[in-house]
Amino acid sequence: MSRILAVANQKGGVGKTTTSINLAAGLSSAGKRVLLVDLDPQGNATMGSGIDKRESRATVYEVVLGECDIHSARIHCENGGFDLVPANQELAGAEVELVGLERRETRLKDALAAVDSEYDYILIDCPPALNLLTVNGLTAAHAVMIPMQCEYYALEGLSDLVQTIKKVRSHLNPSLEIEGLLRTMYDPRNTLSQQVSDQLQKHFGAKVYRTIIPRNVRLAEAPSHGIPAIHFDKQSKGALAYLSLADEILQQRSPTH
Ligand code: ATP
Ligand code: MG
Repeated sequence: MSRILAVANQKGGVGKTTTSINLAAGLSSAGKRVLLVDLDPQGNATMGSGIDKRESRATVYEVVLGECDIHSARIHCENGGFDLVPANQELAGAEVELVGLERRETRLKDALAAVDSEYDYILIDCPPALNLLTVNGLTAAHAVMIPMQCEYYALEGLSDLVQTIKKVRSHLNPSLEIEGLLRTMYDPRNTLSQQVSDQLQKHFGAKVYRTIIPRNVRLAEAPSHGIPAIHFDKQSKGALAYLSLADEILQQRSPTH
């Protein structure tokens, strides 16, 4: 059975997609079988994995609407070593089209059940909104990974996400856990970052990953080449940080823990 993680935060630009791609690539290079699901109409995880979202092919849109089997929509990403269910702008319409359908919150969960035995990890890159797509991501997942920047409003936004997680837990997915909070784009010279980081640790304790992702330009450059940063520049600080995050996650699940 696979471990399904939703990478979510309704705040935009906090590093969800960068985390999804590099964690998928990091877990793959550790020998795990990984599926990355792009659940964002922006299609950034698709492009960053080296798949052109403008090419016509089946996407997660058809999968959630039940028009296409997940086996036909997934595609192997050579550059990352993982499989991807791509997304493009069309997915923006799914929000409206799903409303009238039965089991609208469990569409992704139902689809993933068909490939569950083929992967060790399934990562879901959620859009920057607490909408029906994100609810589908949270309903399909065992746990949520929350990337966040250590800035003043970060904690405020977190309480809305925690409320949504609680609602999903009580109505749709009782065993949904918070896997961890990931500090991204971290600049140790910034005292506010340090203060917010300290506060996070105080409130969430062991739920905060030990690994901190630094601000690193190579992480921002890699997507335009369609190559995960961990392969684009293996020695960069960003690459090393994401490799250490993959290790941390693997250790959490290893039988000795
Ligand atoms: P959205 O909410 O729009 O989906 P997101 O949360 O998925 O955004 P990303 O797309 O991963 O965030 O990152 C936002 C921008 O910041 C991107 O241009 C990305 O390349 C860049 N970026 C992400 N992480 C880092 C980092 N650690 N250092 C430098 N740049 C980063
Ligand atoms: Mg994104």
